[in-house]
Amino acid sequence: MAHKQYQNLIGGQWLPSVSGKTFQNINPADHSDILGTFPSSNAEDVALAVAAAKKAFATWRLVPAPKRAEILYRAGQLLAERKEQFAREMTREMGKVLAETRGDVQEAIDEAYYVAGEGRRLFGQTTPSELANKFAMSVRMPVGVVGMIAPWNFPMAIPSWKLFPALVSGNTCVIKPAEDTPLSTYNLVQTLIDAGVPAGVINIVSGFGPEAGAPLVEHPDVRAISFTGSSAVGSIIGQRASANFKPVSLEMGGKNAMIVMDDANLELALEGALWGAFGTTGQRCTATSRILLHKSIAAEFTQKLVARAAALKVGNGLEEGIEVGPQVNSDQIATSTKYVAIAEAEGAKILTGGKALTEAPYANGTFFAPTVIGSVTPSMRIAREEVFGPVVALIEFNTFEEAIEIANSIDYGLSTSLYSRDVNRAFTAMRDLEAGITYINAPTIGAEVHLPFGGVKQTGNGHREGNGAIDFYTIWKAVYFDYSDTLQRAQIDNAE
Ligand code: ADP
Repeated sequence: MAHKQYQNLIGGQWLPSVSGKTFQNINPADHSDILGTFPSSNAEDVALAVAAAKKAFATWRLVPAPKRAEILYRAGQLLAERKEQFAREMTREMGKVLAETRGDVQEAIDEAYYVAGEGRRLFGQTTPSELANKFAMSVRMPVGVVGMIAPWNFPMAIPSWKLFPALVSGNTCVIKPAEDTPLSTYNLVQTLIDAGVPAGVINIVSGFGPEAGAPLVEHPDVRAISFTGSSAVGSIIGQRASANFKPVSLEMGGKNAMIVMDDANLELALEGALWGAFGTTGQRCTATSRILLHKSIAAEFTQKLVARAAALKVGNGLEEGIEVGPQVNSDQIATSTKYVAIAEAEGAKILTGGKALTEAPYANGTFFAPTVIGSVTPSMRIAREEVFGPVVALIEFNTFEEAIEIANSIDYGLSTSLYSRDVNRAFTAMRDLEAGITYINAPTIGAEVHLPFGGVKQTGNGHREGNGAIDFYTIWKAVYFDYSDTLQRAQIDNAE
């Protein structure tokens, strides 16, 4: 059967890549299921897309922001109508279970409604001038053409976090979806076009990082870069963008700790641990990948967690009752496998899972058994490095202070969580955990679109998505308006 052929979107036209090269979008749960072929783009395609975005910027920036926002609002409504279809296609291309891909589309809907409200805010400031008959204000200006590079784990939500605030602010966009999950970006952008986004305002170039992503970062007409992905690639992109003085928003890895105190509701913590560690097959930047257990409850908690993890139903996320889908590709399986071996070599113990699932019914996909690793100490690599798979490390501690210290002892700082019923400890954890996000009595995952999203240390470079994204997608302009009809020299004419 011929596969559906998708094209790049450039200046409102669907075009093949200049080189004619394509790649396939394959279902990680069933490699015989091909979702379509997509253009494998290079610098030439990027140049065309950037030129189209630059042209469109001349008019889009002048569309009143409330009008731009109305288009986003309509896109939210259309996404709600298309939610089921888009969720099913997302499960086929990315693997996570249907309940979660519905959540991913819902996040784009939430983002549309949230950001649409921003169209009637985009507030600036007015302030008194130090001179008579002079008015001073600051206004938000769009940045221009923004380049966006997205990962595969939230194939619609993350592009929506980037596109929607950029669009409402008056920017035009060139987006490069992750090579594993281009279809969800296409579905999102098609919906935006159906809602009324004009030609050239959003452009898609699909393809691989070095060929299609790197030229986007380098292009002189791209005025800002928004990237979500690994810290290794983020470091390269950050350096290249900085070399060209481009603002760059980097949202990267995590090694997120859940702390379970001796006074915690253990059943609640157990449910949170399972969801945080194995939801999205552990492939979230906020996934719970370290569980810090107070010594007095560690044995009981570990035994229950291992039993529950071993009983999780792994399989094709489209099927009823499946709790954990495949990993997105064989590279991710290799990483999970590698970290299990590293953990064992350093003296940790594999309590359940620890291997790829390759026999029927898993033979046609990339599956990894939910894995719990015990006897982990804070200095081991499995306690410090991101795995991005269904692998969680258990670390025991004696005191609350020690737990905070272990939680903070790593290079990442995205999400953290504390399970405790002691209000004093909860407030102390809120203050002392070094992370962009802290949950109390909830797992490390579950961000809502209207709060700031991002991390500290190697997780990010200080920008925030969600609440805070408008600050990245606009630049401040100071405006001085003199109505005195005289030359008034600041700091001079009004000084004693
Ligand atoms: P992940 O582990 O989620 O695949 P990556 O950081 O490898 O994270 O990829 C995230 C995004 O960055 C993808 O869209 C990928 O194609 C892109 N990418 C990878 N390498 C580069 C690069 N050198 N320059 C620009 N983009 C890149």
